[in-house]
Amino acid sequence: MNSMKITCQECNKLFDTTQLKLCEDRHSSGLYRVFYQCPHCGKEYFVCYHNDLTHKIQEEIKEAEYYGQNVKAAALKRKLKKEMDKLNNR
Ligand SMILES: [Zn+2]
Repeated sequence: MNSMKITCQECNKLFDTTQLKLCEDRHSSGLYRVFYQCPHCGKEYFVCYHNDLTHKIQEEIKEAEYYGQNVKAAALKRKLKKEMDKLNNR
């Protein structure tokens, strides 16, 4: 995971992205809202939306990478990006 310094907009304290744990909220619509919280004041920062399909693709990518199936992993990553774009209206 890349380390990145972020200044909290709420408390103006600096924190490192490696200190953060991503959290997920399950919505009734089947969407998962992914966010992280400032370790100092707890302000939530929205990251992206996931759903069951994108979760499943992420698992498949992990599995493909574990077994060294690079072509399959790359194809799955493209698929994931497309689904994420659709889901997040990008
Ligand atoms: Zn803060």
